[in-house]
Amino acid sequence: MIDSPLIKAKAARLCQALASSIFWLERFSKLGMPLPKDLNEILKTPTISKTDLVQNQGAFPPLGTIPNGQVTRWHQSSGTLGNPLGWADSTDDWERLLRIWNVLYEIAGITNSDKLFFPFSFGPFLGFWSAFEAATRSGIYCIAAGGLTTQARIRMIERHGITVVLATPSYALHMAEVGSGLGISLHQTPVRTLILAGEQGASIPSLRSRLENAWGARVLDHHGMTETGPVSMECRLNPGVLHIATDSYVCQILDPNADQEVEEGELVLTPLERLTMPLIRYRTGDLVKRHNEICPCGRNLLSLSGGIKGRLDDMLIIRGNNIHPEAIENWMWSQTGVAEFRIEVIPSSGMPKIRLVVEAERESDPTRLQEKIYSGFQERFLFKADVKITESPLERYEMKARRFRRLENS
Ligand SMILES: [Zn+2]
Repeated sequence: MIDSPLIKAKAARLCQALASSIFWLERFSKLGMPLPKDLNEILKTPTISKTDLVQNQGAFPPLGTIPNGQVTRWHQSSGTLGNPLGWADSTDDWERLLRIWNVLYEIAGITNSDKLFFPFSFGPFLGFWSAFEAATRSGIYCIAAGGLTTQARIRMIERHGITVVLATPSYALHMAEVGSGLGISLHQTPVRTLILAGEQGASIPSLRSRLENAWGARVLDHHGMTETGPVSMECRLNPGVLHIATDSYVCQILDPNADQEVEEGELVLTPLERLTMPLIRYRTGDLVKRHNEICPCGRNLLSLSGGIKGRLDDMLIIRGNNIHPEAIENWMWSQTGVAEFRIEVIPSSGMPKIRLVVEAERESDPTRLQEKIYSGFQERFLFKADVKITESPLERYEMKARRFRRLENS
């Protein structure tokens, strides 16, 4: 697919954009390399990381020195894990970016008879605006439900006969909780699909089954980034497998520490549709695994097995083993009696310590839950974690959840 005439033509267009960008001219001059002129040459250039981009925007605020041409839209990442990164588009870039969503909605099996619901305030995040605009332009009924209580949003879902809800996994779970407090079973609403993004949760099996049970709807995982655009969507016919919009990205999976292709490693993207702020060989920091089997949907796209497996910068090393917080999250969501939780990493002179702060479900016995989690955790992960059952409710999230926290040295 990477050899297709379409991708080659898009890559050549991207190379022209690089040659108009001060950032890229200076970068290649420092590298002592000529600017790439085609796809083959792009693939031979060094990768670039978020740190390089954030530094450039810090030195030349607000947009840095990448943009060339007339900017009409600007979006910003949430910056939950460090400095937020802004990314700008021209009108033409934006139009091309919306067309990626058409591909993703088709993979998700969304049609014109669906009604889409966006239960959050849009803010500067790219994903919400692009998903909403792409859907309305395709003739799909959409409601932006920012600035409302969760209760009012649930009533709106009922009143409008909503069939698809787009949210973070955490917020979809919170909606189910609030619905149950109101005596409303979300099963009785026409919602048939949850498109969930912003966190790894939709591909965490235990959380996913909680959500599917609570809503009586199919969970579809989606991922995208402000600096790249919308990237992938879970196949409606193949749970756990995400297809990448490979007509719009050159995707590579590389060893996080080397420029070498691997089956499981870091996702490296070259977005082909955004020319005002061109980007090549971007190390996303997302860990993914290539899915090599043929999909029942018949699509011949590069696919990921199990969505985003974790973030490189979140990895924990305990007793010489790499542990992703997602593994702990998956285990925690599989424990009955857990309503919400937080994973805290406490630095210490030996190995870091883990503390699990847990909010119990109303009907569960806190002492028993504490004992069960303490011993179950040790059995599952082969090291001990402190377990604290909190009486005060933990935070619920409308946007990206922050369940995993590294505490400072105290
Ligand atoms: Zn498929």
